[in-house]
Amino acid sequence: MSDQQICQTCGNEQLLRSQKYCRKCASDNPYYDPSNLISYNHDSQNQPRIKRSEPTKYAVQLARALHSEGIKIQLEPEIWYTSCNFYTPDILVNKDLIVEVDGPYHEEPQIKKNDRIRQRALENSGYLVYRFKNEEIVNSLDYVLDKIESILNEFEHNSDRKTAPQLIEMEIPETQRMSNVSENLIKAYSIALNSTLVGKMEKWSTSYFKEFLSQYSPTPIGNRCAMERILFMLLGLNLRLKSDLQSTIDFEHYSMLFDKSLGVMKGLFGEAAEIELKNAYNITATNFVKNLIFYGKPLIARIRIVWIKDYESIVFHISDFKRQFYRFGIFVEESEVKVECLGELDRIENILKERNKINQQINQNQINDGELRRFGWLERWIQEDLKWLHWLEDWLHYDKSLLVLNQ
Ligand SMILES: [Zn+2]
Repeated sequence: MSDQQICQTCGNEQLLRSQKYCRKCASDNPYYDPSNLISYNHDSQNQPRIKRSEPTKYAVQLARALHSEGIKIQLEPEIWYTSCNFYTPDILVNKDLIVEVDGPYHEEPQIKKNDRIRQRALENSGYLVYRFKNEEIVNSLDYVLDKIESILNEFEHNSDRKTAPQLIEMEIPETQRMSNVSENLIKAYSIALNSTLVGKMEKWSTSYFKEFLSQYSPTPIGNRCAMERILFMLLGLNLRLKSDLQSTIDFEHYSMLFDKSLGVMKGLFGEAAEIELKNAYNITATNFVKNLIFYGKPLIARIRIVWIKDYESIVFHISDFKRQFYRFGIFVEESEVKVECLGELDRIENILKERNKINQQINQNQINDGELRRFGWLERWIQEDLKWLHWLEDWLHYDKSLLVLNQ
């Protein structure tokens, strides 16, 4: 039996058995078979796991109401916002209005921050994002429908809406969305390429990158996801300090290289790939600043570049980053960096707990101590770095003793 069925309600010919509701009219799918669920699991460790989920009953209720008003909807469409990642909003109305229906879960700071950061990327691609709460769907559906219709009206009469989201929606083969090169090779290619770029700004060009990377097999040229990852890595390798202010990252230089990288993506794949690279940076910029605070470097770099040791310095770096990246529509906000830092402290706390558990088991001779070696970086971090992070306690209202108590 074919996996694709036809929806009796709206005639949608691409009704999949893995979908609980029709994606075009939100009616129940009589062919739904939950054992048929598709989940994507990118093989690379640096890419998020993407699992398709079913919409909530609130999103379904709104989607049905919109459909019965004759408004064109797509339930949980795939929207590729970087060269390697897509996201599935609750509802896409027409071509450019994303409507999200949020439960209480979205009030958590970490989730809220991620929502906001992704929204920024989507807006840069020309989408408008509008969020409603579950209660609004239940208690005031008419108000929500009116609101959406008035937004659509405004859209129609506003001719200078910036980027057309169609750019992003272009049909790009799935094979280009999955890197064709392993993460280790991406690292190796980037390091090799970078060694030929030192001091040669003019080599950051489509033609040179094409020439250099074509010598390898498999070559990442022709695969936009692999190229996005290589550019990320190259940029990380090229972070440097300002020559006059040694404790400060030279974001001006960094943003110039970023501009060149956009040119490379555009030259290889066209304008949509350029926007996708900007989006990828918008998504990771906050995390990038967090890594400067905790580790003094982006995760891919081997050596510490700068060490942000006080509040003044973090504020300085954030505002300098914003100044240099504003023109690309890329932002970092202090409040979001804070949330990201608290998340990192949580992560470290959990790793510490795990280490202590293993420590105890070793004392009881249940396992050998080879296991502990993977926590080596943590020991060093605690000994060398933690003592510098006093200022974090004030900034984040975080009790640092939580991290050392159990040593
Ligand atoms: Zn349908």
